[in-house]
Amino acid sequence: MNVAANLAQVRARIAAAARACGRDPREITLVAVTKTHGEAKIRAAIAAGNLVFGENRVQEAEEKWPALKAEFPGVRLHLIGPLQSNKVKRAVLLFDAIETVDRPKLARALAEEMARTGRRPACFIEVNTGEEAQKSGVRPAEIDAFARECRETYNLPVEGLMCIPPADEEPSLHFGLLAEMARRNGLRQLSMGMSADFEIAVAFGATHVRIGTAIFGPRPSFTGEKK
Ligand SMILES: *Cc1c(COP(=O)(O)O)cnc(C)c1O
Repeated sequence: MNVAANLAQVRARIAAAARACGRDPREITLVAVTKTHGEAKIRAAIAAGNLVFGENRVQEAEEKWPALKAEFPGVRLHLIGPLQSNKVKRAVLLFDAIETVDRPKLARALAEEMARTGRRPACFIEVNTGEEAQKSGVRPAEIDAFARECRETYNLPVEGLMCIPPADEEPSLHFGLLAEMARRNGLRQLSMGMSADFEIAVAFGATHVRIGTAIFGPRPSFTGEKK
């Protein structure tokens, strides 16, 4: 597993996908997803110049990242997994972006903690574009009202939308839907695209692609996609 070589290849693919649709590759942030992976791989990615990372669990991130963030102040950490309200304090302290804002109770808790601490991690609203029962995220029909509530009622720094399309569906439909929802809500950031489909996501306007496997190799299956 050569993390540096994989990263270079992923960066080249992002750049090619961007150019193919007339976009500037610099508009796209690679969020390297390190869930289940240890410090050696993380350090290899940092050494190769990657500074933006994603983790899906608060507890796991707390075990891995505080020392690394102190050592490498340029590192930015994104929370890409579901956030329980009782972990909001810890999440606001550690993460620089929270991509999974998806309900009023969580929005309120985030707002209170941001007001208390003065720390304001960028927020993305997660949309359950496939309306899957087991998945988190607001339903497409609720996004306009929820985005307004997050901004007007809670004054959250909402920068964009995030989605995880159903595994067995054509992702472009979901990426197109997310892009349209962001456009009509005046949100500029779109976190969409993973190892299997990030080039399609770039074509549909992704500003953040979240890529784990293509950089760090397969994850142990017992933790991989668990919510
Ligand atoms: C694990 C994960 C990813 C990365 O998935 P890969 O297929 O390994 O690239 C992206 N987004 C979220 C929300 C994840 O949980």
